Amino acid sequence: MGDNKRLGFIGLGLMGNGMARLLIKAGYALTVFDLDPDKMNSFKALGARLASSPKEVGAKSDVVLSSLPDSKSVRDVYLGLPEGVLQGSSPGSLLIDFSTVDPETSRDNYKAAVEKKVKYLDAPVSGGPKEAENGKLVILVGGDRGAFEESKPILDLLGSTIHYAGPSGSGNIVKLVNNMMSMGNVLIAAEAIVLGVKAGMDSQTLFNILRTSGGRSAHLEKRFPNALVRNFEPGFTVDLAKKDLTLAIEMAKNFSVPVLSAHLSQQLYSVSSALGNGKKDCVSIINLFESWAGVKFQEVKK
Ligand code: NAD
Repeated sequence: MGDNKRLGFIGLGLMGNGMARLLIKAGYALTVFDLDPDKMNSFKALGARLASSPKEVGAKSDVVLSSLPDSKSVRDVYLGLPEGVLQGSSPGSLLIDFSTVDPETSRDNYKAAVEKKVKYLDAPVSGGPKEAENGKLVILVGGDRGAFEESKPILDLLGSTIHYAGPSGSGNIVKLVNNMMSMGNVLIAAEAIVLGVKAGMDSQTLFNILRTSGGRSAHLEKRFPNALVRNFEPGFTVDLAKKDLTLAIEMAKNFSVPVLSAHLSQQLYSVSSALGNGKKDCVSIINLFESWAGVKFQEVKK
């Protein structure tokens, strides 16, 4: 792998935008594709080549990277006929998908790629748009170890911690397990904090104590300061929380493993989405508990 590799990027959304920009900044020649023409045009101004299909990205790139919303789009982009990436890729090229999808989708794409002598990695990420912009993502990689080693110089530009999780699909297994825990942490913290405020605690004092105490979590520290000042801009949206919990529940069904709290979490984020909060940050789940308790977790200006 070297700077003369031609890269392609598909899916220039909240996450892909920052990642693709970092690759251009590092000096890579980049061909991009997104269904949204405005997103494409913003990359033209940065010197990227615009493709008219995933197949064209595949044909013009030694390494194709993608950050797409869901399993369907990941299957369409790579396997689609006649315009999918694999219709254009040459043997020996490498495909790296950063999307959070079910492990089966990753494995199906991997198998289709192997048939064409193309390498495929599932590489879902932990961290949000800010980390994507700053090259500070945590990247969880599944696939052949040789392909992982080959991908490292690129992944090192995008992430501060890169894990090799195991064979194809492993990255997404870990990602779904992680997000069951993360979204559960946000939910439990929201419920408990609202009870604390209802029982008479000042919100800021409660938060200051909790962030040093046993109940703290990475998400308490990252998201609840925003809730305290009533900032619910995403970050990681309620709809993404719902999506990832749904994928985790499907994975559990495939193994006949009961996941009771994941079901409850999934339902509560679904309620929040149905109430119109799908595009807000997942910490806005606290609004549900606040409305039931009749109090707000809010900094009081003294
Ligand atoms: P997003 O919706 O902002 O971006 C997705 C982009 O893909 C959009 O620009 C959309 O136009 C494009 N797209 C959709 N279907 C396409 C297709 N068939 N062909 C080409 N382009 C297509 O989503 P995001 O927040 O950037 O998330 C991307 C992935 O990263 C998701 O799988 C998400 O679960 C995961 N993720 C997101 C976050 C986060 O904080 N936002 C954190 C970790 C992981």
